[in-house]
Amino acid sequence: MSQPAFAGEAPKWSLAIHGGAGTLDPDKMTPEKRSQYEAALQAALDAGSKILSEGGAAMDAIKAAIIIMEDSPLFNAGKGAVFTWDGTNELDASIMDGRDRSAGAVAGVKTVKNPILLADTVRTQSEHVFLMGAGAEAFAVEKGFAVTPPDYFATPARAEALERLKEEKVSALDVDHKFGTVGAVALDTKGNLAAGTSTGGMTGKRWGRVGDAPLIGAGTYADNRACAVSATGWGEYFIRVGVAHEICSRLRMGRESEQGIADGVMADVKSLGGDGGVILVTPLGGAFFSFNTTGMYRGRATSDGINEVAIFGGEEKASATPDH
Ligand code: ASP
Repeated sequence: MSQPAFAGEAPKWSLAIHGGAGTLDPDKMTPEKRSQYEAALQAALDAGSKILSEGGAAMDAIKAAIIIMEDSPLFNAGKGAVFTWDGTNELDASIMDGRDRSAGAVAGVKTVKNPILLADTVRTQSEHVFLMGAGAEAFAVEKGFAVTPPDYFATPARAEALERLKEEKVSALDVDHKFGTVGAVALDTKGNLAAGTSTGGMTGKRWGRVGDAPLIGAGTYADNRACAVSATGWGEYFIRVGVAHEICSRLRMGRESEQGIADGVMADVKSLGGDGGVILVTPLGGAFFSFNTTGMYRGRATSDGINEVAIFGGEEKASATPDH
């Protein structure tokens, strides 16, 4: 489905990104930390926006944005991923193309620098949607991915979080304070939507636990008829609600506003006891956020001139609903 044509109007593009949601406390965030996060989010936003503003594909824009966040130790994806109970870093990612709803996902990979690219290779170069563990890594090698030494992903801050979780017998939420999963969703000027999500999961995960991030329909979904969604939060709840697909389905039925639908689905997650947030873009170029936590690392840029990054609730300067 292409965008509706309006006389004299250039086709719209739109991009939203997230770097995790959580119980963030403005008083505990130093100006230095804040500017580090803002700079990383802005770099990801700029990489994706450049592609979209030059007429590039939504799929390329989300990959460019996500790779920058996977490579940054600030986020729980790629380098800087949280530790499992056994002291390893196990990465999950998924990606979906709204044109044909082709999708790719990987879970529990330990030696792939940019899991989002492996997920995309599953999408484009295999007959499958979802590969896990050793099989996913064998597929990566077969497709020419370099084997990254597992200690590349480890950072002291994440190692300390695991130690604290074990010593103080607390939950991942107590040591992480935020979900640092990364994601991006985009609309390109041809009217195509794409979504992607990448994560290390939750600190102290055991027994091969897999969250929502690599699950198509839970953490990621894209459908040109409705929207593109990427989620971050307590994965078990997002799986049970089927968050990303639920938002797209309700939008396809078209009876409520985009913000209302996203907020409604996040309220549903909350009612079960889960927290986190979502980003979405729509075929008309809207870029929305919804989260039931105090903050979400996020950013959005559109062809209408919006370009902003934010961390705590209510920091947006502009409405991101395009007027038609
Ligand atoms: N949703 C991720 C998971 O449950 C965690 C996150 O968003 O940081 O694995």
